[in-house]
Amino acid sequence: MVLDVPTLIVVTIFIATMAGGLMLFSWLQNRAVAALLWWGAAYLAGAVGTALLGARGHIPDFWSINIANAVLLASVGLTWCGLRSFDSRPVSPWYAVWGSAVWLIACGVGEFYQSLNARIALGSAIAAIYAALAVRELWRSRHDRMLSRWLAMVLFGFHGLIYLVRVPLTWIVTLPPEAGLFQTKWLPLGIFEALFYTFGTAFMLLTMTKERAEARHKHAAFIDPLTGVPNRRGFVARAEPVLARCRNEARPVSMLLFDLDHFKRINDTFGHQAGDDILVEFCRAAQNRFGPEDVFARLGGEEFVCVLPGTQAQAAFAIAERIRSDFDAGKRTIGAAHVRATVSIGMANSADAGGDLTGLLGAADKALYQAKAKGRNRVEGRRPALMLVSGDTIDPVPRGAARE
Ligand code: GH3
Ligand code: MG
Ligand code: MG
Repeated sequence: MVLDVPTLIVVTIFIATMAGGLMLFSWLQNRAVAALLWWGAAYLAGAVGTALLGARGHIPDFWSINIANAVLLASVGLTWCGLRSFDSRPVSPWYAVWGSAVWLIACGVGEFYQSLNARIALGSAIAAIYAALAVRELWRSRHDRMLSRWLAMVLFGFHGLIYLVRVPLTWIVTLPPEAGLFQTKWLPLGIFEALFYTFGTAFMLLTMTKERAEARHKHAAFIDPLTGVPNRRGFVARAEPVLARCRNEARPVSMLLFDLDHFKRINDTFGHQAGDDILVEFCRAAQNRFGPEDVFARLGGEEFVCVLPGTQAQAAFAIAERIRSDFDAGKRTIGAAHVRATVSIGMANSADAGGDLTGLLGAADKALYQAKAKGRNRVEGRRPALMLVSGDTIDPVPRGAARE
């Protein structure tokens, strides 16, 4: 198969222009993502550089060698800057052009400029460094667990490796005289790789942007911004599959429903901000007592809920009691005043209420009502027959002990 060089070059220019245009268009739609602007500039620079390179012989060498390669190196530099910007790291235009500056300075040295080997080696080395920096940037933020990030890493890594290999290869392989460069069989492969890189990375970077936007929307819809715990919608989304699994595996499940006591009074006395701080503090106190499987959420206002899979009533009571006493013992002061805050808790268990969300919520709500009616700052719920109760205190089951 004969890969026609001019055709490949025209296709690469076309793809790079399209990619750059698409990035800029996306940036116009979402200016908060500055990375799209960097990437738009990167692909357009790639198109210009490739066009200048392809015009070799038709325009002065200064433009098709010095400037063409400087623009192409700036293109990979801009891509790296875009990745830094995407992950909220500081960026400067200098980061994008240092490679071009090194290249142009080297081109000013006669001996270097006369050597095709030296030019290919330096250009490839700078491109490989930028690709390695791109991989490093992607790697540093891998914890966001975006699949497209890993695929982008593979593409930049592959591109960097090819350029790295080219550095020693320029001395191992006998290069043709410069005039015959367009006739070698390596050139179409090189342009083909550039085409693959341009298309692949542009697609992946746009996918990364989309994946992050989706994750942020999901987070905003499911997480309560004040406390950082799931909201009612997030709770239902997480609790339903947990409850379904418990039903399938015939495991017990408990639910705790929390309502802070006289919260209106706290707000009225100490201010809304103090109320907000106490809501956050309650979440921390409660989360201290939950395990990784438990689903805790803010149902709204000063009401919270937790589903405890694999937990019998007795263990659920013990956990609830610990949260109640931890929260009651919390030291909060505003000025000289001590702010006392307490919580009432209703407990329900699948043995009595069944394993579905509505049944558990209904039973826990009834128990919570009782806790309020009996004077607040207490835990209520249907106690198993064998459970010994003395006043408000319930024998605590050590955390970590079997709950079933
Ligand atoms: P009870 O012991 O019967 O539960 O009394 P309560 O005052 O806690 O109950 P009520 O339902 O009358 O009042 C709840 C209060 O919670 C009213 C509302 O202003 C307050 N609240 C709801 N959401 C927030 C919030 O996000 N921040 C703050 N600071 N207060 C909130
Ligand atoms: Mg309430
Ligand atoms: Mg309340």
